[in-house]
Amino acid sequence: MTKVIVIGAGVVGASSAYRLAQAGAEVLVLEAIRPGSGTSGISYAWTNAHRKPPFPYHQLNVNGMKTHAALRDEFGTTPWWHGGGSLEWTEPERHQSFRENVQQLQAWGYAAEYVSPAQVAGLEPDIDLAVLGDSPAAFFPDEGWCDPVVYIHAMLSAATHRHGAKLVLGARVADLTMQGDRVTGVRLADGTVHRADMVVNCGGRWTNDAVREAGLHLPLAPTPGLLVFTPPVACGLSRVLHTSVVNARPDGAGRLMLHWDPTDLTVQLDSKVSVDMPQVVDLMRRARQVFPGIGDVSAEAVRLGIRPIPGDGLTAVGPMPRVNGYYVAVTHSGVTMSPFLGLCVADEVVRGVVRPELADFRPARFFN
Ligand SMILES: Cc1cc2nc3c(=O)[nH]c(=O)nc-3n(C[C@H](O)[C@H](O)[C@H](O)COP(=O)(O)OP(=O)(O)OC[C@H]3O[C@@H](n4cnc5c(N)ncnc54)[C@H](O)[C@@H]3O)c2cc1C
Repeated sequence: MTKVIVIGAGVVGASSAYRLAQAGAEVLVLEAIRPGSGTSGISYAWTNAHRKPPFPYHQLNVNGMKTHAALRDEFGTTPWWHGGGSLEWTEPERHQSFRENVQQLQAWGYAAEYVSPAQVAGLEPDIDLAVLGDSPAAFFPDEGWCDPVVYIHAMLSAATHRHGAKLVLGARVADLTMQGDRVTGVRLADGTVHRADMVVNCGGRWTNDAVREAGLHLPLAPTPGLLVFTPPVACGLSRVLHTSVVNARPDGAGRLMLHWDPTDLTVQLDSKVSVDMPQVVDLMRRARQVFPGIGDVSAEAVRLGIRPIPGDGLTAVGPMPRVNGYYVAVTHSGVTMSPFLGLCVADEVVRGVVRPELADFRPARFFN
């Protein structure tokens, strides 16, 4: 039986652990803190394949969306995944790029349709249509959002209870153990050594911290993102919404999660954030513009998440060059893609099947 160590219990590690164990591997998941404590716990978590060229990268995301939907047949219920599509319109200076995006998505066979103001109101009655004005709006029926930590729990439960995987929390990997050019396992920060035939690093933005050997570091270009949370508010928003003033989605128990791309440019990877910072107050003001019914409410919480982005902005999944027995899986849009990536990792690591969908996303491209 192939012994596999998975580093990290975010969406990518949990998906990989489940599929590896299901494929017959003896799986040990080593998580430094707790499941979902990394980027997966601070994510907008919109499942989509928007503005994700080139086509193979778009398709990787589409495969992720399809695999999320297929989990319903496998698990019976998928309480972590919320369909309902997404609605979008943009500020006037971006109308052309908005139309080009819709056209590109339609040309790629992706469900994307223009909708009238009356249809927008039908889908989301609490929106103030004055914000929409005469902007073109589009609906993307196959999109949705995910509660990543609920998903992670389901994958880890299935991996451990159904397929015998083991999960150790508080296990910080400090280095790989090597014999010549073969990775033989990992050494934890407390000195414990675990042996394996294959180490799969799903450490997200911390992937390189688990490996001392600089030659095995994946180039990463992480970016910060600010997410603002309202208290429970009387608002019926039921899907992902991107507007000309703010982006929003439900976040359970009546809370809304808010995001605004330009705001991300005002924070750094190590910024301290608080609910009274001007950017947060501004996002709440923007939310009130779209949903006047929420009243004069302040933010309940704000969180800074760091996107784990490989150096060229695309996914990096596959064996690391120069050594044997070491595989990495690091990506932005990991919430969308992780169910599919988990299947690919299991095929490649356990079954020896090389997945053609990953051909353009090999870590080796950084080491030529
Ligand atoms: C603001 C924001 C918005 C986003 N929006 C979206 C979106 O709309 N749609 C989408 O699909 N994606 C989105 N993303 C990206 C997505 O959240 C990430 O791609 C995904 O969560 C990455 O998951 P992961 O499992 O790779 O990493 P993580 O969730 O970071 O998991 C890594 C785990 O590894 C553990 N770990 C790290 N180092 C070690 C070590 N040495 N030893 C043991 N364990 C270790 C960590 O504790 C952590 O639990 C967003 C991200 C941000 C920040």
